[in-house]
Amino acid sequence: MVTDETWVDTSPGGLLHLLRTGRAATRADLVRLTGLSRGAVTARVGALAAAGLLLEGADLASTGGRPAAALRLDPDAGVVLAVAVGRSRSQVGVFDLAGREVAGDTRDHEPGTGARDLMPDVAARLGSLLDGLVAPSAPRARVLGVGLSLPGSVDPATATATDAPVMRGWDGVALAPYLSPVTDAPVHLDNDTSVLVRSELFGRVPVARDMLVLKASTGLALGIVADGRLVGEGRGTTGELGHTRVEEAGDLLCRCGATGCLETVAGGWALVARLQEAGRSDVRHVRDLAALALAGDPEARQLLREAGRHLGETLAVAVNLLHPEAVVVGGDMATAFDLLTAGIRESLHARAHPAAARALRFVPATHGEAAGLHGCAALAIDRALDPRAVDALLRE
Ligand SMILES: [Zn+2]
Repeated sequence: MVTDETWVDTSPGGLLHLLRTGRAATRADLVRLTGLSRGAVTARVGALAAAGLLLEGADLASTGGRPAAALRLDPDAGVVLAVAVGRSRSQVGVFDLAGREVAGDTRDHEPGTGARDLMPDVAARLGSLLDGLVAPSAPRARVLGVGLSLPGSVDPATATATDAPVMRGWDGVALAPYLSPVTDAPVHLDNDTSVLVRSELFGRVPVARDMLVLKASTGLALGIVADGRLVGEGRGTTGELGHTRVEEAGDLLCRCGATGCLETVAGGWALVARLQEAGRSDVRHVRDLAALALAGDPEARQLLREAGRHLGETLAVAVNLLHPEAVVVGGDMATAFDLLTAGIRESLHARAHPAAARALRFVPATHGEAAGLHGCAALAIDRALDPRAVDALLRE
């Protein structure tokens, strides 16, 4: 992966990376940025075009691109598959290489459904989505990779969950074999908050170079973006905000086994439990809670606002330490964005240093409820179009 902005990879894959990230748009740009001769650039561009990865000037003119000299990744050179698995819902989708969803579907499942029961269904759904894209006799689109996400910690190297307390029956289960009936493309696994962050960084100018990305859902987690990059990217874990000890939680027992965690007073699972204890058997998931709050249910509104206040107290520490420009809020609680952030702002501004909090902006996740799915697609595209992966594809 090209990580240093001053170092330039001069392989064909490196050139495609320059075009894809907007640093180059023409052969002349590529000559200037790489120091390669015009002939060398032409040969590499030719190889990329022959592999169907590049669109050149003439092809672009009709779509309003710059004439003659312009070069661009062909977003239809292949597709990636995205799978975002949550505690009680799975989303699957097919995306083009520009990160646009071509087809997708969402289904609920019983909380606690294990990998062995869910993954064959996921594979079947992906298969039908792919079949639906083409005429019956035509070949399927070229699948370049699969991006998959799970709540909890995962091991990206082996594509297995390592510590998913809300996902019984997933830890240690190899997931890639379940997808082999659909594709033999590489399967990349990351955790749900990491892919949420990716969805904010992929193919667009992010809301801010320094920001916090809060996933407020069944659990509570935090991704830290510093200078446009996710801190700890590729480790398969994100900030365990929800398991920070807070005074208000007293000795309440958390799902992690400890007591006094923030999640016990502000996590979706705890809020749902509170409503159920109060006799609200219609509330089964934090999505139900958010929907009730939006519909004006006073109990649900109160719970979400209070959860926001608890969250804001802990977030204030992160804001003091990191001075982010923005907090992006995603996850199922973010459906009731205004309510939740009203609570967060209240306590955060009371606790954080004014210099750190004054200009802080709160914004909802760009892709809303589909943010995780978009992030899974971004993961697969970034891996598939990594310069080394592209060079390997060209050698085949
Ligand atoms: Zn905990």
